[in-house]
Amino acid sequence: MADSLKDYRQKRNFKQTNEPEGKIDELYDNPIFVIEKHDASSLHYDFRLQIGGVLKSWAVPKGPSTDPSEKRLAIRTEDHPLAYANFEGQIPEEEYGGGTVMIWDRGRFHPKEGEKHDELGGRLEEGHLMVFLEGQKLSGGYDLTRIEKEGDDEKWLLVKTDDEQADARRNPVSTENKSVVSGQSIEQIREKAKEDE
Ligand code: MN
Repeated sequence: MADSLKDYRQKRNFKQTNEPEGKIDELYDNPIFVIEKHDASSLHYDFRLQIGGVLKSWAVPKGPSTDPSEKRLAIRTEDHPLAYANFEGQIPEEEYGGGTVMIWDRGRFHPKEGEKHDELGGRLEEGHLMVFLEGQKLSGGYDLTRIEKEGDDEKWLLVKTDDEQADARRNPVSTENKSVVSGQSIEQIREKAKEDE
């Protein structure tokens, strides 16, 4: 099996950053998703799904929407270890992705009816997958569709499915901006990291 965490490790110096080094973990019980608000050189939301023993990842500049008419650009990024779903804190400014990470939402997810979780890797390769999230902020269907691929650079769109959980009036990215784990805002996480230095 190819080491899909190679890129992740090459980009980081684990002597300098607190991010987990992690490993590939083929556990399919209760697969998780996590969305991490990342205040780096530019603010974005990292959308990650547990597929194939790692967290398949996209950077979503505007963050996810609950409005099915909103198409959110999602730029594919390197696979992250499952342990990253627990990472919240400060990445040193001079390191890759330097800035503050907050666990904005997290929970289980499942594929659409009739599809098995281990088929999702194939869907990802094909450039289209649909997942149902069971988070604290986001729930229901989300559609991911690849719109552009040049080498390793892939652009996707993340769109809310028009289902019972869709709500065009909600704007959780701006109104629900605390961590689902620590209850802290990005600013509070950053301040705490400074105090702990
Ligand atoms: Mn990021």
